[in-house]
Amino acid sequence: MKKKSVETKSRKIKRVIRNLRFTAKTPTDKKFLKETINKPGILKATERSPMYGFEKIRNFLRDNFMSRLKWETIDNHITEKKTFKDRLVGIRTIKQSLGAGKGMAISQYRELSENKEVPKEGYTHIDGEALWKELNIYARKKWEVQKIGFTQIPQDIILQGNHILYKYALVFIKEMRKPWIDDAPHALAGYETMRTYNQLGKAVLDISSWLRKKGVRCQPNHPLGGLISYVPLAGKAGLGWQGMNGLLITPEFGQRQRIAPIYIEYPIFSFTDKNPEKFLWIERYCEMCKRCLEECPGDAIQETKKIYNDQIETIGRLARCLDPIKCHPYFSRFLGCSICVKVCPFSTGNGIFQIIEKKMKK
Ligand code: SF4
Ligand code: SF4
Repeated sequence: MKKKSVETKSRKIKRVIRNLRFTAKTPTDKKFLKETINKPGILKATERSPMYGFEKIRNFLRDNFMSRLKWETIDNHITEKKTFKDRLVGIRTIKQSLGAGKGMAISQYRELSENKEVPKEGYTHIDGEALWKELNIYARKKWEVQKIGFTQIPQDIILQGNHILYKYALVFIKEMRKPWIDDAPHALAGYETMRTYNQLGKAVLDISSWLRKKGVRCQPNHPLGGLISYVPLAGKAGLGWQGMNGLLITPEFGQRQRIAPIYIEYPIFSFTDKNPEKFLWIERYCEMCKRCLEECPGDAIQETKKIYNDQIETIGRLARCLDPIKCHPYFSRFLGCSICVKVCPFSTGNGIFQIIEKKMKK
């Protein structure tokens, strides 16, 4: 009986999502839907239709609720016996997830109007070096963002059907704290994942407003709902390298972090790009380790990667490393599974990155 009611609910929700439509009214909307929505690239603000945010949110719902979500998993999740502590943490996790969802929706809409207040010639008065120092202090003190990079965005990493406004990116990294991630796949790890998404999302929205006040025209992108592929972007900005499971490995946190960029109009800061040789040994180490692949409960990590492009400047290839359809049931069941993050040797911290690097470079 219960199973039937879950199925009926699932059918209803899927129908609502399938029927979400936005009717193009203005010539800009019509042109946007017809000509640009399916071509990734960089667009001027005036070329973007206000319906863009709507399209993005609809696509996010469709991808997550129509194809990836397994209703049986949710049903089991609801009926599963849990301790009082797990239920309490679960409520807090849902609160963080809702906050992250709201932040993602805001970040899709806001940038169109807000940059109008920033004069086009404002950037000519900016002292990049001084602003970079100020930015690092602001982001660290107010939002506990531990790492920032700056780079030019390779056009090939803009995701299919997406558009960004500018061709340079500040890349922000926020740590997921180790004691919480060590609880994976249980409640605390899920909470930490959603908390980091939510906090970093709030951070890039706030830092964008701060940058605009300094005369920088910019566009924040929430850590959820990326318009471009974040891991190669962070690799290009010299912050780390992609691991076997597709997540970023950094010297400081291993895989325990989330990434979010702010796209900006001019190269006002020095690029933080590093010689890829500095990180290429990580790929060789992953080939020997394969721990994430062996421990993944969904068998979602692919040993043979699907390569979309292997000619991207500095970072080389763009590869899909895990199957989201296999990962998603576990990710939703635990509200952020994170087993692969926990078992990665680099996530231990305490200088383990440097120890492995030394051995691999011998
Ligand atoms: S989050 Fe869990 S299910 Fe998804 S790839 Fe990592 S270990 Fe596998
Ligand atoms: S667990 Fe091992 S194989 Fe997987 S990303 Fe980490 S180092 Fe690479």
